[in-house]
Amino acid sequence: MNSFTFHNPTTLHFGQGQLAKLSTEVPKYGKHILLVYGGGSIKSNGIYDNVMQLLQGLDATVIELSGVEPNPRLTTVHRGVALCRQHSIDLILAVGGGSVIDCAKAIAVGAKYEGDFWDIATRKAAATGAIPLATVLTIAATGSEMNSGSVITNWETQDKLGWGSPHAFPKFSILDPAHTTSLPENQTVYGMVDIISHVIEQYFHHDANSPVQDRFCESLLRTVIETAPLLLADLNNLEHRATILYSGTMALNGILSMGVRGDWATHNLEHAVSAVHDIPHGGGLAILFPNWMLHTLDANVGRFKQMAERVFHIDSAGKTDRQVAEEGIAALRAFFTSIGAPSRLADYNIDDTTIELMADKAMIYGDFGNFRKLTRADVVEIYRMSL
Ligand code: NAP
Ligand code: FE
Repeated sequence: MNSFTFHNPTTLHFGQGQLAKLSTEVPKYGKHILLVYGGGSIKSNGIYDNVMQLLQGLDATVIELSGVEPNPRLTTVHRGVALCRQHSIDLILAVGGGSVIDCAKAIAVGAKYEGDFWDIATRKAAATGAIPLATVLTIAATGSEMNSGSVITNWETQDKLGWGSPHAFPKFSILDPAHTTSLPENQTVYGMVDIISHVIEQYFHHDANSPVQDRFCESLLRTVIETAPLLLADLNNLEHRATILYSGTMALNGILSMGVRGDWATHNLEHAVSAVHDIPHGGGLAILFPNWMLHTLDANVGRFKQMAERVFHIDSAGKTDRQVAEEGIAALRAFFTSIGAPSRLADYNIDDTTIELMADKAMIYGDFGNFRKLTRADVVEIYRMSL
């Protein structure tokens, strides 16, 4: 295990009825609020009305930025930055999923930066500050509610880039499982795939002395794998919603990667697919992850074997390590398929004609991945395996 310093400043308010905490949290920051949300789900499920009622009770001035796209776009970030400057915003309140929160993070940081926010996303400049940001989460998936990362798409250049800054941590996040019951089955599945993928990204490292981190990861993986079919059979079940919601936050708030260095190549591969084809993040990950595993297996068969045995309970008696490892990868694919996740790029009508373009996008910063460095040839091969 490597030395590390851990700091996560986000206050979590978790559980039913926690939305009321807006009344004590919001006044700490001021009265001019930018409310950021997506395509309207918060209006149909009543969350918008409840938030507005609480904000009006605080005599707050609420400016709205609606229509944040899944795979949020730079143009929307620009609109939000302009609103912040025009209305002297004190607090940005993101109400929605990872897309809304990621967009709000970019706006928060972009409003304090003199140049174009895209400089920060493309790593030409570092964030210098941020307008305080808070979230009301409506989908268990990204962990964005308690981390400092964000992913923004520049649709003109077809680049979808992850960026991060300590300034981008939310000040507080409100997680009520009841806010996630209106989530349709497909988005629930994508969210769970994303959660599993975040854990796996951090599980695949070469540090042999990480027993606590490994068991944390395995516990989260087992929990999501066991809860997923129960939740999908009963989408309104608040206990299962709460389990998945908590798993999503724990999967990517920094705790799993204390002292170890995860891989993150598959997220990069998926962002390139989404940048070109605008597909759901979780759908892309379900397709790519088992193929990344098959392609990188020889980098450390032992870790794949460990996942197979401990997470998928593969019996290793009489088998080679490689066989056990391959059975674990097959079990992950079978699990994704069992919950209705896609398994091939063809499921999104993606064929081999855009492989080179996607590879260009994935290679924007050169070879990538910490568990196993991927070259352009590796990237092309994994996309081909995924067709
Ligand atoms: P999302 O894109 O925020 O939302 C997906 C869809 O679900 C939207 O159509 C949204 O509708 C709908 N929705 C959300 N909550 C709902 C609810 N309670 N009821 C009904 N519909 C609801 O999904 P996400 O998976 O959370 O975010 C994906 C984005 O996050 C991708 O761009 C991905 O690359 C990025 N990401 C970020 C991180 C990070 O750490 N920052 C990590 C992984 C991925 P509305 O538009 O109406 O809200
Ligand atoms: Fe993700």
